[in-house]
Amino acid sequence: MKVSKRIEGLTGGGSDGWDIWRKAREMKAAGLDVIELTIGEHDRRTEPAILDAMHASARGGHTGYAALPGTNELRDAVARRVARRTGVKTTRDNVLVTPGGQAALFAAHCAACDPGDSALYIDPYYATYPGTIRGTGAVAVPVQARAERGFQPDPADIAARAEGARSLLINSPNNPTGVVYTHETLTGIATLATERELWLISDEVYDTQVWEGDHLSPRQLPGMETRTLVIGSLSKSHAMTGSRLGWIVGPEEAIDHLANLSTHTTYGVPGFIQDAGLFALEQGQGLEDRIGEPFRRRHRDVQDRLRFRGVPVVPSGGAMYLMLDIRATGLSGEAFAHRLLDEHRIAVMPGESFGTAAAGHLRVALTVADERLLSAVDTLADLYDQLTEAAA
Ligand code: PLP
Repeated sequence: MKVSKRIEGLTGGGSDGWDIWRKAREMKAAGLDVIELTIGEHDRRTEPAILDAMHASARGGHTGYAALPGTNELRDAVARRVARRTGVKTTRDNVLVTPGGQAALFAAHCAACDPGDSALYIDPYYATYPGTIRGTGAVAVPVQARAERGFQPDPADIAARAEGARSLLINSPNNPTGVVYTHETLTGIATLATERELWLISDEVYDTQVWEGDHLSPRQLPGMETRTLVIGSLSKSHAMTGSRLGWIVGPEEAIDHLANLSTHTTYGVPGFIQDAGLFALEQGQGLEDRIGEPFRRRHRDVQDRLRFRGVPVVPSGGAMYLMLDIRATGLSGEAFAHRLLDEHRIAVMPGESFGTAAAGHLRVALTVADERLLSAVDTLADLYDQLTEAAA
C-alpha cells in the first residue's frame, strides 16, 4: 500500500541532515570512543527531586487519562511564569500543555495554516521545522538569515517571500546559531507580521539560555498578543528532554481550538509528567540557573579558546551551541564534519544540516564535560589549521 504524499514527502526527499549523528552512533555501537557534540541533550540527567515528584504522583494514582488542555495547576504555573517574565497578562486559558515543544510546533502550524498555505520559517533552522510544516499540509517557505548579518533575520527578506503566507516561525535564542534576536530584529518582524496579517509562531524553548542581553518575547510587543503563538518546553530549561513536556501560549480562542486538536491527536500529557513539570517550575529561577550554568560557562570558554586558535566563531548570546565558520578551509561543513569524525572521532553537526544559510559552518553542541569539550575543540582547531594552510 502506498502512504500519503504528505508523509512520504516529509523530509523533502533529500537527506534529513542527521547522517553524521547516525554515523557517530554506529561507531559508538561498534565500541569506538566518539565525542558527540551533535544533539541538544544535556550531559546531566533530570534532577532526582523532579523524578521523586513524578514517582509520588504516579504512585498517588495520577496514571489515568489526564486533564487535556493540561492540569489547572500546571497551566496556572506556566501562565504565572510567562506573565512574570514578559509582563503580559496571561491566564490558564492562554495555555495548552503539549507533549514537548515539537508537538506544540506541529499544533501551532495546524492552528495557523490551512493545507496549501505558505508557512515561512527562518534558515538556518532547527532540523525538524520544514518537515513539521509539511506534516500539517502547509507549504514550507524558508527565508535566509544571512551569515553577513550575523544570522539576524532581515524583515525586508521576510517581506519579499511573504506573499500569500499565513505564518512566520522564528526561534530566539536560536538553534543552530546561538544568536539572540535583537530588539530591532523582533520589532521589525512584529511590524511585518501585523502588516501582512501573519501568525507569528515564536519558538522560545531556549528562553532560559540567554548569556548576553535579555530574552525578549515578541508576544510582549504592542499588538502582538493576539497573533503570537509562543512555543515553550521544559526540555532545555529543566533537563527534561525525555519527559516530553511543553506548551503553547496564545490567544484564548486559538487555545480552545488547539485543545480540540489535542483531543484528536495526542490526547494530552500523562498526569504524573505534568505533576513533575509543576514541581520543576515551582523550584523557580534557581534550578533553571543551575541547569543553564554549564552552558553559560562552556559558551564563554569554548569561544575564547577558538578565537585564541584563530577559528572564526559566529558571535552569539545564547543556547547550548556555538557555530563556527570554516569556509576558509574550502570544505563544506559536511566534508569537514566527516573528516573530523573519521580521523578524530569527534562528531559535530554540519551547517548544511540546518538549511542553506549556514553552509560552510559547523554547529558544536556544548554538551560534554568541560575538559573533554576543550580537548575536542583543540583537535578541531588543529584540523582547521591544517586545512586552511592547504587551501592557501
Ligand atoms: N525547538 C527547538 C529550536 C529545538 O532545538 C528543539 C529541540 O532540540 C525543540 C523545539 C523541541 O524540543 P522538545 O524537546 O520540547 O520537543
